[in-house]
Amino acid sequence: MEKVIIVRYCEIHLKGKNRGYFEKVFMTNLERALTGIRHEIRKPSGRYIVENFDQERTDEILEKLSKVFGTHTLSAAYKVPADIETIYETVKLIAPAGGTFKVITNRAAKSFPLHSMEVNSEIGGRLLQDNPNLKVDVHAPQHEICIDIRENGDALVFSRHIKGAGGMPVGTSGKGILLLSGGIDSPVAGHMIAKRGMVLDGLHFHSYPYTNMQAREKVEQLAHILSGYTGGMNLHVVSVTHIQEAIHKNCPEEMMITLLRRFMMRIAERLAERVGGQCIVTGESLGQVASQTIEGMTSSGSVVKKLPILRPLVGFDKTEIIERAREIGTFETSILPYEDCCTVFLPKHPLIRPKMEDVLRAEARLDVEKLIEEAFETLETLRI
Ligand code: ATP
Ligand code: MG
Repeated sequence: MEKVIIVRYCEIHLKGKNRGYFEKVFMTNLERALTGIRHEIRKPSGRYIVENFDQERTDEILEKLSKVFGTHTLSAAYKVPADIETIYETVKLIAPAGGTFKVITNRAAKSFPLHSMEVNSEIGGRLLQDNPNLKVDVHAPQHEICIDIRENGDALVFSRHIKGAGGMPVGTSGKGILLLSGGIDSPVAGHMIAKRGMVLDGLHFHSYPYTNMQAREKVEQLAHILSGYTGGMNLHVVSVTHIQEAIHKNCPEEMMITLLRRFMMRIAERLAERVGGQCIVTGESLGQVASQTIEGMTSSGSVVKKLPILRPLVGFDKTEIIERAREIGTFETSILPYEDCCTVFLPKHPLIRPKMEDVLRAEARLDVEKLIEEAFETLETLRI
């Protein structure tokens, strides 16, 4: 008996004039998630049906599709000829052994001889007769048995609704530059913004040879996990070693992180110009560490001239961020030991509330333009 997968999207976002566009992007993203797996996707009405795939790969396909933003719920369903005998034989395969249940029929094929209510009572009645451990509860059943009678003469029979990733299809909300470190926060921030439909290009700064290749592989791995949700991403990698050395040599020690952050933001904005980014996304959370005070954010944010900076985690506690990191599958990778470029030349007492005039005075000792140009000479772009 053939299994198909029903994908239901978060309809609320797909209303109105943009509907066709959203549906098209969503379809492209579903297709992309199944790259390399034989399948066909049809869109009869209001949902997508994936069929003609290798049945042994059903779970793998469900797993991949459940991560595509815009997916509300999914079900693996048996596809059988729509006659009441066959439907009942199939229902028996998925019927629970006991407890309360309800049959929910949706009849798209108006030519089918029974109305949906009649199918419900026919199938429900037979189940009750065959299994005395079952009881009907139409209000709060423990189990739902769903029957979709389609226009083409097929019936889909299924029980379980698997929760999808929610959100909006990636590609419907523009493009941003995600400052991706190897830590816990930035992948979570990226996930949240991608969930709103934004395409993200990752930007990672390293301080090779002070930071090692493992640090970089870790970031590539994080980008790889994120791309399971976004359908792939570009990861730009830039060295800031020479910038840290210049700061170290010319500026007060406690200014290291404050000044480095300003360079990161400038580089991010210039990269955005090159690749069509419309905002900068960071994993900052207010007050979490010394550099994430409002003064710190003001100092680093003030060098960004044209773009908004999105900080989706600004009001989150670390414990909440960790919970999300676990849910999206980045936590285990994020906690692998690594050296962030920010920990190189780490001052003993970083400035917690940098004053703008001090920052500007210290920065005036550096050739900012030249340092940025040199950073771009190290730019590498990987397709993840
Ligand atoms: P994370 O867990 O994301 O590393 P964090 O709590 O360690 O965050 P910071 O190190 O202060 O915080 O970094 C704040 C934000 O700055 C990060 O969330 C990230 O967006 C950006 N950032 C920090 N280091 C890097 C880096 N090496 N490359 C790219 N972005 C970085
Ligand atoms: Mg960090």
